[in-house]
Amino acid sequence: MRYIEPHAHMVSRVTDDYRNMMAAGCAAVCEPAFWAGFDRSSANGFYDYFCQLTEHEPRRAAKFGLPHFSWLCINPKESEDVRLAEEVIALIPQFLDRPNVLGIGEIGLNKNSRNEVRVLEMHVDLAARHDQLILVHTPHLEDKLKGTRLTLDVLKNDPRIRPERVIIDHVEEHTIKLALDGGFWAGLTLYPDSKCSPARAVDMFEVYGPERLWMNSACDWGVSIPLNVPYTALEMSRRGHPPDAIDRFIYRNPAEFLSQCPKFRL
Ligand SMILES: [Zn+2]
Repeated sequence: MRYIEPHAHMVSRVTDDYRNMMAAGCAAVCEPAFWAGFDRSSANGFYDYFCQLTEHEPRRAAKFGLPHFSWLCINPKESEDVRLAEEVIALIPQFLDRPNVLGIGEIGLNKNSRNEVRVLEMHVDLAARHDQLILVHTPHLEDKLKGTRLTLDVLKNDPRIRPERVIIDHVEEHTIKLALDGGFWAGLTLYPDSKCSPARAVDMFEVYGPERLWMNSACDWGVSIPLNVPYTALEMSRRGHPPDAIDRFIYRNPAEFLSQCPKFRL
C-alpha cells in the first residue's frame, strides 16, 4: 500500500508516528497551519510557527525519510481579532517561496462570525494575489452547513479563484455535494469520535467518488489516529474495492490536487 497524508498536524505528534506512517506506506505528509490549543499572544508567535512548519518540521520528518509539506495562514479559531490577523497575513508572503510551502490553509470559519468571514476574505485575496492553492477548514459545530455555504460564497464571489485549485476539507454527508457541485475538491477527515468514521468515509466514496475526493486523518494534539487513512483503505479492501481504486483514492487523487503546486514532487 502507498498513500499520501494530506492533512496532519505533525508538530504535535511524536516520532513513533513518523515511523509508523512510513511503515504503513506513507509517501508524503502535508501540514496546514493550525491552532496550538491556546491563542498566541502576538504575530511573533505565528512567525516562529511558520519557521517551525517550513524549516524545523521538514527536517524532523526527513530523519524518517518522509517528505513534509506545509500550508500557511492564521487559523479560523484565532481569526476573531482582525488586527492580529492583518499582522499575521502580512508575514506570510516572505514564506511562500520556501520549498515545502504548497499554499494558504487551513483557512475558513469556526463560529461563522462576521470577523471570521472578513479574515477568510483576506486569506482568499492573499492566495489569489500570489497564485496559491487553498485548503479550507469547515466548522465542526452544528452549523457546518451554514459555514460551508458562507465559505463557498466567499470563494465563488472572487473571480480570480479557480475551484479546482481549492479543497474543502472536513466535508460530511450534508456538505460534500455542495463542494463537489461547485467544482471544488472535497476532503473526508477521519476522526475517532467526531467528523467522519472510516465506514462513513467509504460510504461517501461509494456515492460521490472517485473524482476530486481525498481522505486525511487531520491528527493533532487531540484524540486522533495518525494511521486512519491506511486503516480506511483496509475497510475499502474488506468491502471488495480493487487495489487500483484504493490507490487512486489514497495516493493518486491527493497527488493530482497537490501537484498543481509545482513544488509538490514525490
Ligand atoms: Zn487541521
